[in-house]
Amino acid sequence: MSVVTRFPPSPTGFMHIGTARTALFNWLYARKHGGKMLFRIEDTDRKRHNEAAVENLIAGLKWLGLDWDGDIVSQYEQRQRHAEIAKELLAKGKAYYCYCSPEELEEMREAAKKEGRMSFYDRRWRDADPSSAPNDIAPVIRIKAPLEGATTIQDSVQGDVTINNEQLDDFIILRSDGSPTYMLSVVVDDHDMGVTHVIRGDDHLNNTFRQNVIYDAMGWDKPTYGHLPLILGSDGAKMSKRHGAASVEEYRDMGYLPAALRNYLLRLGWSHGDDEIISDEQAREWFDLSGCNKAAARFDFAKLESINAHYIKETASDELIERALPFYQSRHDIEPGAEAISMIKQGIEELKSRATTLLQFVDESVFYAKTVPLSYDEKAAALLNTDAAPVLKALLDGFENIDTLDEQAIKNLCKEVAKTHAEGKMGKVGMPLRAAITGTTVSPSIFEACAILGKDETCTRLKAAIDCIKNSDTIKQSG
Ligand code: GLU
Repeated sequence: MSVVTRFPPSPTGFMHIGTARTALFNWLYARKHGGKMLFRIEDTDRKRHNEAAVENLIAGLKWLGLDWDGDIVSQYEQRQRHAEIAKELLAKGKAYYCYCSPEELEEMREAAKKEGRMSFYDRRWRDADPSSAPNDIAPVIRIKAPLEGATTIQDSVQGDVTINNEQLDDFIILRSDGSPTYMLSVVVDDHDMGVTHVIRGDDHLNNTFRQNVIYDAMGWDKPTYGHLPLILGSDGAKMSKRHGAASVEEYRDMGYLPAALRNYLLRLGWSHGDDEIISDEQAREWFDLSGCNKAAARFDFAKLESINAHYIKETASDELIERALPFYQSRHDIEPGAEAISMIKQGIEELKSRATTLLQFVDESVFYAKTVPLSYDEKAAALLNTDAAPVLKALLDGFENIDTLDEQAIKNLCKEVAKTHAEGKMGKVGMPLRAAITGTTVSPSIFEACAILGKDETCTRLKAAIDCIKNSDTIKQSG
């Protein structure tokens, strides 16, 4: 039997990080077994439906680097088929019409609440005579849940989970307006799509028992289940917006690479010995439901960052720069041209070795794409003071007279200027130089940066910094 998994998100507006992990696990399981992962949008809630949310899910999955097989299925479009199955269950005597009025249901709900019962419906129409049906109430269809015994789910992650059938209610499968309920739709779709493995969050475990009632009533084979524990925030509560980032989009915008997020999400809930860095190939080979943790895992940003740093180093330069490009625009309003990109590439090994996120990579390389007049951040501006002016002037003279501008030559020049102008202190030379060249106080090696920028651009930036000090001095003096 070939494996068929499914990714069936509800279009709620964004892709939750837990949904992303579920997608990853379904994808890995399908790919490992040479099977298929199907993609179904659970869009039956038409009131809240919005197409942008669907697009978001598709974009999220694509960004994560996960693919699916076949066309995307809309659950809503299958609603006729779902309704037919409800009628079939009725004809088989496995379901029945229920004519309870809202008031009657309310009474039953109240009574159950007082007695502390979970299921409230008292099954009054289960065996009632159809001729006693009122004319003025459109009925719902309810499934006949077993009244006695127990049900066990052999869950591939949780192990055997058993409940008493008393806990099951005769839940509604078709509403009075003829629309199918979620519980029915999921089962019919999974059956029709040939799903063999249902891997999903353990918040669906209760649903599984109810869904099994439908499988049994139809005489359909049940899929193998694997219910994954939730992802928790660092405080132990379900991962949500207030933990900083709950959606895949936010991780993309914080500068994480999809490969790093895949690796991190895999490890968050599944393990293979002590391995932390696991390539896609290894994941496909090693992944198994039995390796999934039963307990909920806490999200650890520090670990994600260290995994991200690893993948930044591993990613080919062209790909890394392509992924970084939108951030130059969004963070610095700069679109690096071909020349800047070529400079970034020259300095990429050091940039990669320092960066834990793409944002850091961009912030520390954007100076290559800047032109004079540079904007100086607050700390850099503070370094560009009258004390620094003679140092920068001496550096400018030195750069203008340097023959071959390589890192060693620049280092020698700085040492020389430190001796003559800064009591031998390299920091007093390197720091204003960095401020003048990059407009910041954080960057890769300033010797390398100047060597890559070249003599002309380095001198231009030094002159601009000296002018800037002079002008602010004039302003101060005249003020
Ligand atoms: N649509 C459900 C959700 O987004 C998934 C249901 C399932 O996996 O059966 O939580």
